Formats: sequence, structure tokens, C-alpha cells
Amino acid sequence: MIYLDNAATTKMAPEVLEAMLPYLTELYGNPGSIHACGAAGKKAVAQARRTIARAIGARPEEIYFTSGGTEADNWAIQAVAENCSHRGKHIITTKIEHHAVLHTCMELEKKGFQVTYLDVDREGKVSVDSLEAAIRPDTILISIMYANNEVGTIEPVAQIGAMARQRGILFHTDAVQAFGQVPLDVEELCVDLLSASAHKLNGPKGVGMLYIREGVGIGSLLHGGAQERKRRAGTENVPGIVGFGAAVERAMGRMEEKAAAERHLRDYLIGRLEQEIPYCGVNGSRTDRLPGNVNMTFRFIRGESALILLDMKGICASSGSACTSGAVEPSHVLMAMGLSEEDAHGSLRMTLSEENTVEELDYVVEQLRQIVGKLRDMSASYEAFLAAGEAEG
Ligand SMILES: *Cc1c(COP(=O)(O)O)cnc(C)c1O
Repeated sequence: MIYLDNAATTKMAPEVLEAMLPYLTELYGNPGSIHACGAAGKKAVAQARRTIARAIGARPEEIYFTSGGTEADNWAIQAVAENCSHRGKHIITTKIEHHAVLHTCMELEKKGFQVTYLDVDREGKVSVDSLEAAIRPDTILISIMYANNEVGTIEPVAQIGAMARQRGILFHTDAVQAFGQVPLDVEELCVDLLSASAHKLNGPKGVGMLYIREGVGIGSLLHGGAQERKRRAGTENVPGIVGFGAAVERAMGRMEEKAAAERHLRDYLIGRLEQEIPYCGVNGSRTDRLPGNVNMTFRFIRGESALILLDMKGICASSGSACTSGAVEPSHVLMAMGLSEEDAHGSLRMTLSEENTVEELDYVVEQLRQIVGKLRDMSASYEAFLAAGEAEG
């Protein structure tokens, strides 16, 4: 099996599992308990918190563990809305956010908040000028992702943060795709809230965190016990948090090396596909792009059909299209970038890890060449395109 879906989730690293195992077996105590069995868990959670804080230039007290990126995004946005609604009810985000952000904003619209969804350019980038133009006296929050999960475009977050800070508006960034891939520093970026998730960086599923800058007075999403300094109730997911810490430790130690390997593989795959398959093109930025992201449109085919045929050849990839209520909807990200509905449907996302090899990618190129050819042979739009070309002579 060739796994090219690392933006969806990653394989847990062996050292992460090893770090977690004691907390799944003999060290099962509740960190809230006084006895020695609880103390071990408490100590391990504190250590993971320090590791994660250091990785983003934060202080340990500013890290709040959650059940994942989705909870962190929900928490950040809902809590700011609740806490700041006396100052205003306007939120700015973008059209290309993860659904954890978009759907939370849509829920808030039902409760009387107004949300501006900023457009992006052809590469999926937000313009800082359009952000500035969207700011109103009643704007309470700007939420813009660090890097997009579909096309890998890296947003101008430092500039956005500087603008938010200057205007006195809270700034949240969903850094789930970027954390562990590119250096992040909450001071340099002027972010007040930052979401991350362990399973996107070779950690376990079901654990993530929200960075909340000290002094940002937002309330809890979950009410109950006094865990996470009374801001996130519920017995800590000790093994998950330990695994998250180990994954971050590992990622920070090899970030350069991993990025270089992935960039090499990414550019190799893009280069070969562009050269060997006609009528295809890269979606997103060629330069400000996550190292492992390949997102391409193959005109005249359906990405979902290609996915199934790739799967039959042992290749795991993804398309931006989402199956909602039985109908296949084109990717909201690619549509926001200005692709036609047909081209959005013809897209494939292949997200690499440093463990992929050139040999694997050679096999992928060969299979894709055949699959795209086969699908085009059955495509009415391709037939029409060829006929139009012949008519023109
Ligand atoms: C995966 C992802 C999420 C959701 O994180 P979970 O831990 O799976 O809930 C949020 N935002 C982005 C950009 C993601 O890629």
C-alpha cells in the first residue's frame, strides 16, 4: 500500500507509541488523584505541556489540551464570541478554512453574529489589504488558518497577526496542518489563539491543543472538573497527551530534514505528472506551500473516480470533493480559488511523508497515467474538447 494521504492523518511514530504504552498499562492513575499512581500521569502531562509550549514559543500555562483540532477550533471561536459579544458581533475568516472553523462560524451566524468570509486568490492566498478593508469597529475576532489542508497554501499569518494586534482584535489561527511542519512562534505571529492536533504529526488521534495567550479572557467549552486550570473539564487523556508531547519532540528535532525530503518528493511527483500527463496543473502556490502537498487538477476526469481506481492499485489519495447528502460537492477551497466546478471535480490531493520513496512515486505516476487515460476515454467533455480542436483544424 502506498499512503499519500498524510493531510488526513499520519502514521503514529514508533517512539510515540513507546512513550504512551506505560500510561495505557501500569501508569493508569488519574492525574487529579493525590496518590503516587496519579502523580506519574500528572508529571507526564506537565512535561508534554512544556515540550509543546516550547515548540511554539509559548509558556506551558498557555497550552490547553483538547480532544483534537476540531475541539480547539470550536472552543476558540465560540468562546471569543461569547466573551466579546458586548464589544461587537463581527468575525472575519476565510472561505477556505477547515469545516471545524467554517461550520462553527455558520452556527454563530444563526445566533446573531455576522461573519465575513474573505475571498482568496488563485493560489488560495488571503490578501492582507482585503482583510484590512473588512475590519469594522465591531470586529471581535479574526480566524485565518496557517496552512490550508487541501492545497497546502501558507497564509501571510505574521502580517495578519500584526494587523489584528494593531487594531486590538483577537487573532486565532488553525495551525493543524502547519504544526511540526514549519517553524511557528506565537510572539512573531502575534497570535492570541492557535489550534493544533497530534494525529497530523505522527501522534495519536483524539488529542490536540488550544494555545490561549495569557490575558485572553475566554471561558470554557466543557464544564465540569477543574482540569486544565478550570478551562477544559474532563479527566486528562494522559496517554494521548504523552503521545502528543513525544510527537512534537520528534517533529521539532527533524523538521528541516523531513521538510527537505518531502519537498524533494513533492517536486519530483509534480514534475513528472506535469510532463507526462497532458491537461493537468497544480492547484495552490508553488512557493508558499507545505512541503508534502501535491494538489493537481486533471481536466476531463472526476477525482472521485480516479481515487477508486487508485485505491484498487493500492494507492491511498484524496480528492477535495465531499459527499454531502448523497451528492458529490466540489471542494469549497478550490471553488474559492476560482476553479470551474468541472476542474474542481477533477482534482486529486496527494500528501506525502518523508517515508515515501521515489520508486513509490514512479509507480503512482504510471498508474495515474493509465487511470487518467482510461477516464478520459469515457469522458464526454474530453470528446467534445477533442472534436472542437479538430474543427478548428
Ligand atoms: C485535520 C484538521 C482539523 C481537525 O483536527 P482533528 O484533530 O482531526 O479534529 C482542523 N483543521 C485543519 C486544518 C485540519 O487539517
